[in-house]
Amino acid sequence: MFAKRLDPSAESLATVKSCYETGFKFVHAGLAKDEAGSPDIALYSQGVTEFRRGVGVVVNGNGANQEECRKMQGKMKKNIKFIEERMRELRTANVKQVQKASTPPSRPAAPATRKNVTKNVNINVNKNINRNVNVNSNDKAMVSKLKKGGIDNAMIERILDEVMESTSGIRFEDVIGHQQAKSTLKEMLILPAMRPDLFTGIRAPPKGLLLYGPPGNGKTLLAKALAAEMPDAKFFNISASSLTSKWVGDGEKMVRALFTVAREMQPCIIFMDEVDSLLSSRSSNEGDAVKRLKTEFLVQFDGAGTNKEDKVTIVAATNLPQELDEAVLRRFPKRIMLPPPDDLARQQLISHSLKEVKHKLSETEIARLGQITEGYSGSDLTQLVKEAALAPIRELSVDQVNKIKSFRPITFSDFTQAAKIIRPSTSVELLKNLDEWTNKYGAYS
Ligand code: ATP
Ligand code: MG
Repeated sequence: MFAKRLDPSAESLATVKSCYETGFKFVHAGLAKDEAGSPDIALYSQGVTEFRRGVGVVVNGNGANQEECRKMQGKMKKNIKFIEERMRELRTANVKQVQKASTPPSRPAAPATRKNVTKNVNINVNKNINRNVNVNSNDKAMVSKLKKGGIDNAMIERILDEVMESTSGIRFEDVIGHQQAKSTLKEMLILPAMRPDLFTGIRAPPKGLLLYGPPGNGKTLLAKALAAEMPDAKFFNISASSLTSKWVGDGEKMVRALFTVAREMQPCIIFMDEVDSLLSSRSSNEGDAVKRLKTEFLVQFDGAGTNKEDKVTIVAATNLPQELDEAVLRRFPKRIMLPPPDDLARQQLISHSLKEVKHKLSETEIARLGQITEGYSGSDLTQLVKEAALAPIRELSVDQVNKIKSFRPITFSDFTQAAKIIRPSTSVELLKNLDEWTNKYGAYS
């Protein structure tokens, strides 16, 4: 006897639909809180996670099921955009509230509206809320100095608004494993900031650190944690792809302005995420603008390093170190690979993610999970935990979600079910290439 096989398009439809419905349950609950004036970003975030999962389902062929899938995926995509905009707005309002310490922001973020909610979560986006509140009086003096030095005012504002990051609250202990990378960061940045007198001459820390490794294993996370570990240093977070796409044409000027502002505000860290998209050897085949941008970056990098007193460190991240040419590598003398978590790190990551939720997993079950998740990246594991954590909510109706105060605990079987949906994402081929590159040029964390 053969088991009856489900039509693949029906399977996709069921998954997409479940994500669509669960996503909207969260978003509706989030909107209700937002409208009531006590927004809860976590609800929006869970909604977005569900939508992303739905959008990620591959839909092959053309038929009624596929059409329905694509329709729901279209709506989810649209909503992700709106909700993320709203989440950003709420985060900005939060950060600014913290920065202003005792005085609340003069104009709170506009509440979300519930109009057309199922078709399109229509979130009232109020751009420019309290723009420039980041700029304190010291910064203002710096801005006027830079203006006199010929740096475009708008560029400075963009850097202060979009590139400078307030701390995310993520600490080193939230980044599981990667001990070598953490101690390198301490040695290169944290200790020299505490005792600059000890780290001079041949003990002067290098100016560039490259974090590399397969996607989703904590490169960006570690850089963000670094920002929180060094509260006195300014942290500029720039993604190389945003330099080439978002600021097309202005990329080169933006790099110059970034380094100038950074030197003025030191001690500081410039974090260049996805650096391969900016500095890959292949980009020499691309347009003139990209070439100029790359050259400008190298020139500025050297400029930042020439003055021994300058406290500007560049931390770059990439999952394609092979794409970086030697001129670039030379500027990053420390190179550390962040590999996927091993068995123990996988268990720790799962336990860490479960810290704030109710669960019924014993130590033996967590150890078992460590074994069955071989090949999972840090991000796959986070997704797995999120997927398992949604199981108790999926059982409920929209009405129950709106009213419920607590859910049943997460169980081992929620995880085994979730592991059927969330699969490891790192390819063996990619790991092999990275290992080869590490043996030649890098070091393991
Ligand atoms: P990419 O190359 O795609 O940019 P990345 O290495 O920068 O990937 P992150 O963005 O740092 O990956 O990680 C994605 C998410 O995975 C994190 O936000 C975090 O939730 C989880 N994660 C990954 N690695 C770890 C880790 N070592 N400890 C804790 N969480 C982790
Ligand atoms: Mg990253």
